[in-house]
Amino acid sequence: MSNETNNEVQAVKDELFSKRQHAAVRMDAGEMKSCDQFCAEYMDFMNTAKTEREAAAFFSRTLEENGYVSFKPGMALKAGDKVYLNNRGKSVILATIGTAPITEGVRLCAAHIDSPRLDMKQHPLYENEEIGYFKTHYYGGIKKYQWTAIPLSLHGIIVKQDGTKVEVRIGEDAGDPVFYITDLLPHLADEQMRRTLAQGIKGEELNIVIGSMPFKQEKGADMVKLGIMNLLHEKYDIIEDDFLSAELEAVPAFPAREVGFDRSLIGAYGHDDRVCSYPAFRAALDTAAPVHTSVIILTDKEETGSDGNTGLRSSYLKYFLCDLAECFGENGRHVMSASKCLSADVNAGFDPTFPEVLEKNNCAYVNHGVCVTKFTGARGKSGTSDASAEFVGEIRRILDAQNVIWQTGELGKVDVGGGGTVAAYIANLDIDTIDIGVPVLSMHAPYELVAKTDVWAAYRAFKAFLES
Ligand code: MN
Ligand code: MN
Repeated sequence: MSNETNNEVQAVKDELFSKRQHAAVRMDAGEMKSCDQFCAEYMDFMNTAKTEREAAAFFSRTLEENGYVSFKPGMALKAGDKVYLNNRGKSVILATIGTAPITEGVRLCAAHIDSPRLDMKQHPLYENEEIGYFKTHYYGGIKKYQWTAIPLSLHGIIVKQDGTKVEVRIGEDAGDPVFYITDLLPHLADEQMRRTLAQGIKGEELNIVIGSMPFKQEKGADMVKLGIMNLLHEKYDIIEDDFLSAELEAVPAFPAREVGFDRSLIGAYGHDDRVCSYPAFRAALDTAAPVHTSVIILTDKEETGSDGNTGLRSSYLKYFLCDLAECFGENGRHVMSASKCLSADVNAGFDPTFPEVLEKNNCAYVNHGVCVTKFTGARGKSGTSDASAEFVGEIRRILDAQNVIWQTGELGKVDVGGGGTVAAYIANLDIDTIDIGVPVLSMHAPYELVAKTDVWAAYRAFKAFLES
């Protein structure tokens, strides 16, 4: 072929074919700097809020500082007003009232603030051969073997007999002790190594070491347990029965860190889904005067199927939108039908070490922007809400107009697996909904990996949507 023909072929290709571009090609030095600054703030948040309760508290506190007031049904609202609702300390909804009538719908972003972890059982404390332990029941989908032999911190609350509440957070500050689940030494693990990976560590083997010194160095039954209980009594004024009304969660004690020689990635516990929650939250704070009312819902219980009164299968979002509509004398049903939602949850990033589970033309790549997913579900799209082509087109125009870096991707090859998000529960309220989120490597592991440019792209996507 002549050079001329070559150029012509290239020109037609450029015009007709989809392009895949690394974010570095699309972001200039100024934007890279903004991205770095944003991610530093994200990492601070990750170290502050490691559980759904801590995230809900952080969001509520930050909202108050930014002029948001507690939402009351029937209150008078006008454009620019800022309200929020804290649902039982575990979920937060915030709204910034827009200039358009509420019947034109709200711009909703939904993300979850719970992450896989180990919950304490109701009778957690016991002693075995002079070692003190907490018994756990894992929360969400984990590979159990990954949770042994790493430092763990303990977070949560204990409600005492008289109703007073004790807050617990141990293992995050320098100088704090941490907690630990043992694994077998390889020298003696011949039999264990023949178990399947799923059975390598079993649920009832996830026992957390919490101490080893007997009470007053005495001999007798359960003296280590008594020593620990005595310490807890001194520190928190609790007795063993108070564990019955407690929610204690063990999470990895690792802080968020930059990863790689070029510091382009972030390692942290619980990117899923705080890596969408935080950018959505920040986008709302930075959209002070929206046309359409902005609503951000930061929900609990996604990792266990969204059931329960702090999960999105419950009616609390619907009730909020109905109450909001009534503040303007309108019917909530009409507000919902006119609303649009980004269901913000992470997606699987392509992992070159395990290429076989993803289909290369239809999966998300790190540093290629926020991932828009038209449908989720598994085995013939079961459980999906499948956004319409029209709605995908609308989102596409919104993102492109603001030069947001985005891609599309499915979670896994057909019939390899899959997963659902809260999208279906919101779409079931007659709200146009589409999935969007940051690609993650090692999702649901104690330490997950994301690319900084993708976190930034998520923030820019939410902002473009809220401003639309
Ligand atoms: Mn998630
Ligand atoms: Mn998850």
